[in-house]
This record gives sequence, C-alpha cells and structure tokens, in this order.
Amino acid sequence: MIYLDNAATTSPKPDTVVREVDRALRLYSANPGRGGHTPSVTTAKAVYNVRKSVKDFFHVKSEEDVIFTSGCTQALNIVIKGTLKRGDHVVISSMEHNAVLRPLHQLKEQGKINYTIADVVAGDNDATVNAFRNAINEHTRMIICTHASNVFGVRLPVERICALAHNYGILFCLDAAQSAGIFDVNLSDNGYDYVCCAGHKSLYGPMGTGLLLLGNDIRLEPLTAGGTGSDSANPLMPEYYPDRLESGTLNIPGICGLGTGIRFVNTRGRENIARHEMRLVQHLYRELSRTDKVMLYTPAPEIDEYAPVLSFNIEGSDSEAVSAFLNRRYGIAVRAGLHCAPLAHKAFGTLESGAVRIAPSAFSTERDIEILLKAVKNFIHTT
Ligand code: PMP
Repeated sequence: MIYLDNAATTSPKPDTVVREVDRALRLYSANPGRGGHTPSVTTAKAVYNVRKSVKDFFHVKSEEDVIFTSGCTQALNIVIKGTLKRGDHVVISSMEHNAVLRPLHQLKEQGKINYTIADVVAGDNDATVNAFRNAINEHTRMIICTHASNVFGVRLPVERICALAHNYGILFCLDAAQSAGIFDVNLSDNGYDYVCCAGHKSLYGPMGTGLLLLGNDIRLEPLTAGGTGSDSANPLMPEYYPDRLESGTLNIPGICGLGTGIRFVNTRGRENIARHEMRLVQHLYRELSRTDKVMLYTPAPEIDEYAPVLSFNIEGSDSEAVSAFLNRRYGIAVRAGLHCAPLAHKAFGTLESGAVRIAPSAFSTERDIEILLKAVKNFIHTT
C-alpha cells in the first residue's frame, strides 16, 4: 500500500511511537492525579514530561498552558464555546475547516454570535490581510484562522493577521492542524492567544490526540465539567489550568505516543521533514502540470507560501472515481471529495467536484510519487 492521505492522519506512525504506546499501556496504567500510590505518581510524571516537551516545542509560557484534547476539533470547540459571549462577532478565513465553521455556525443558529468570512487571496498576502481588516467590526471578539489549507496547501500570513487582531484588541486563535510539525508555530514570538493542533497528523502521535495551547490569561469556560482529581469538594471546575479544561481520565497511551511523535519530529528536524515533503509535492506538481486533462488549482508551490498538500482533478471525472481507481488498481490511498472544508472548495470552484488530495509524510518516497504519476496517467488513458 502506498499511503498518501497524511493530511487526514499520518500513517505509518514511527516505530518509536508504536513502542511507546505499548510501553505506556503496560507501565502507565494507573490514573494520574487520582491517587498518591506509586503507579499513579509514575503515570503523572510521564504526562508531565510530555507536557514539558509540548511546551518546549511550541514555546508555550508554562506547562499549565498545555491542554491535552482528543483532537484539533475538541481544542477549537473549547476555544469557541469557552470564549464567545452573546453578541460577539468572529472573523474566519475562506480556507477554514468544518472544525471551525460548524461550532461557529451552531452558535450563530442559536442566535448568540455572528461571523464573517474573509477571502484569502492566494499569492497576495497584503490583499488577504486587508480582507481580514475589512471584516472586523465593533463587536469582533476573535479571529480564527488556519495556518494552511488542508486541501490546497495555501499558507496564510498568520503572523500578520495575529498582529492585526491585537492592534484592534481582538483575540487570535490559530488552527495549526495542518501546520504543526511542518511550519514553525511559536507562541512566544508570535503572541497567539490560542493554538489548536491535531496530535495525529504531522506530530506523528496516535489518533485521538490533540492540543490546545494557551497564550493568555483570559478565563475560559470549560466545554466539559467533571472529575479532575483536584479540588474535589468544590462543585465548580478548578480555576487553574490545565485542570480547568481537562476533566475525566486522560488518554495516557495517546499522550505518551504524542510525546514520542514530537521527539521523532525533533530528531529528523521539522524543517528537513517540510523540505522533503515539499520536494515530493513539487515534483508531482511539475509532472501533473504537463499531463493532459489534469486540473491544478494553484501556482507551483513553494514552502513560504504553501504547505506540502496538493489537490487536483481530472477533466470529466469524479474525484471519488479517481481515488477509487488508485486504491483498487494500484493500492494507493488518497482522499477525494470535500475534505471537511467546503469553504476552501467554494473559493477554488470545486464544491461540486471535490478534489483528489495528495499529502505525503516524512516516510513518503520519490518512488511513491512515480507510481502515483503512472497510475494517474493510466486512469486518464483508460477512461
Ligand atoms: N483543522 C484543520 C485545518 C484540519 O485539517 C483538521 C483535520 N483534518 C482539523 C481542524 C480537525 O482535526 P482533528 O481531526 O484532530 O479533530
């Protein structure tokens, strides 16, 4: 099998991650923070060590500002539902995932908030920043913006958009699901208020892991309330983090696996991985751009402007049919359809057709891309 669906989740996971999950299940099988006995304390230390490595990786102020979640979706829901108040307005980009759009839309349907979509102009960061500026109004409380499109790879000028938000006294939340482990995501340099990440994509952790990183002291209302093993006589959730946002038993094997995934990225080098993936995508782009009937949607990608994700279509063919053919005839796993990002498809005119998405990982090879190219050409000749 050639797996090129790493924007959904990376596969395979590094052997070290697999071994760490196994080790955690054996060694850290007591509930952390729920008892004074040795196994519980041992597990709590393991969790703390991962919190510390996340803090270092993203330059978060302190370990307490690292919240473990089940994925980027949960992290975004905590921010959106824990921050916004009745009458608030939010600006998002035209590249947002449903993990941003749907919780906002839910609140809008309930009559609580409103949101505006700022059009991203690929290749013109000034125009993109201006679109955000124009969308701000007196009620705007937060800007939420993806670091890079999970469909077309377009990289947004998030440092500038964050600075713009702060100029207007507006909170800035970064969706780093598609970028963490690829681009530099640095809370201390950039002053992001919230960063939401998937642990299972380019951080190489297991599925069911994610992160919410806090960059300010504003009090968030918890999305879920429950046991934290702390301040137990109090019917209210603790005021302090991470406990306030982490109720219930944590996903210890997942968290330990995520810690080892981050170590994998550090060992290979985040920039080396990004360059490797981008070289593969650029090669693919070059060849596809010379192939009759292939429809590409962006200029040739460069790392300053694009994440290593490429979507295309074949004239006259449904994207799902292309992906089914690649799977059946060549054992190539790619995703087709809308990739949970209808806004991005609307912006690129592919809402009807969807698109075939290619997303390599650190483990993808040139040979994978050569076989994919052969398979695409074969599809075109046989249909
Ligand atoms: N935002 C973006 C840009 C994504 O690509 C994804 C996942 N594909 C998410 C949010 C949701 O992440 P998760 O699956 O970890 O909840």
